[in-house]
Amino acid sequence: MSLFNFLVSKTIMHVPGPIVGFFAKGYIAGDDLSAAVKTTKDLNSKGMVATIDILGEFIKTKEEAGFFKQQCLDILKGIDKEGLDANLSLKPTQLGLELDKAFAFENIREIVTLAASLNNFVRIDMEDHPCTDDTLEFFRNLREEFEGHVGVVVQSYLRRTLDDIEALSDGPLNFRLCKGIYNEPRKVAFKDMAIINRSFVKCLEKMFEKKAYVGIATHDEKLVFEADQLIRKFGLKREEYEYQMLLGVDPELRDLLVEQGHKLRIYVPYGKKWLPYSRRRLKENPSIAQHALRQMLGMKSKSV
Ligand SMILES: Cc1cc2nc3c(=O)[nH]c(=O)nc-3n(C[C@H](O)[C@H](O)[C@H](O)COP(=O)(O)OP(=O)(O)OC[C@H]3O[C@@H](n4cnc5c(N)ncnc54)[C@H](O)[C@@H]3O)c2cc1C
Repeated sequence: MSLFNFLVSKTIMHVPGPIVGFFAKGYIAGDDLSAAVKTTKDLNSKGMVATIDILGEFIKTKEEAGFFKQQCLDILKGIDKEGLDANLSLKPTQLGLELDKAFAFENIREIVTLAASLNNFVRIDMEDHPCTDDTLEFFRNLREEFEGHVGVVVQSYLRRTLDDIEALSDGPLNFRLCKGIYNEPRKVAFKDMAIINRSFVKCLEKMFEKKAYVGIATHDEKLVFEADQLIRKFGLKREEYEYQMLLGVDPELRDLLVEQGHKLRIYVPYGKKWLPYSRRRLKENPSIAQHALRQMLGMKSKSV
């Protein structure tokens, strides 16, 4: 890691909001749902689909959870009204998981019920490891009643993930597979990127063996290469999997995937709570800051 990247990742939690905002603005659609709708229309016109996310997590009161539940319902209604090719991603802690598990589950159930009635889909994002059991349990409790309308995320950095896939394979499977973004202890998560990548490939292979629908969420071309091999090996058709990427990240790879004929879904976050999201992204990938600085100075920069 370069000195610049090391410094960004060590100091980012203390950098003032407006500075973080400057670096992060390409990665967030805007403050409100209309901004996310506009971004999604643009993506749809370029042959991509989207998953919309209202920024906010680890909330402290039931009122806040109520606010986020309403936002999620509004996103689904907005997608329907505007005729967008998009679905919804939500976070269990945004709907109250840390306050009251049953309350959070009921909130998520209400959202998934609306999604099913609109023939849409809800992806339950995966947060840090104290949330893993409950999040998988929520998926397990919803997946039969709402088959085709709900899916969950698993992270290849967790030591448990291969076992989780096996344990879940007694029912309908719909996963997003990603490396994982939280700073987890070594006890629960691999720390070596080569192992995380190997785990990603193993997990994906197991998912395909179990006939899961998978959103392959990565910008790592090594993994895209491996995933392509598995897609061929299993003879999957275009509608049997998708790639997923974050808004603003590596547009070159994004265009390549679309040109090659893959379905590609872009994660479109919006909302006023952009600061923790952006800090996490910058901490995870300090080269975003370098890229934005180079752009500001009019220097040529490889896409990050
Ligand atoms: C659609 C989607 C949904 C996700 N949902 C979750 C979730 O629910 N839970 C969870 O823990 N994690 C989630 N993640 C994050 C994921 O776990 C990884 O932390 C993140 O995608 C980076 O891993 P990578 O596979 O892209 O590989 P990396 O090796 O981290 O990145 C590969 C290359 O991509 C570029 N890159 C990667 N990330 C960024 C970035 N943020 N900004 C700029 N450039 C970047 C860099 O050039 C980097 O060299 C999600 C990711 C995606 C794409």
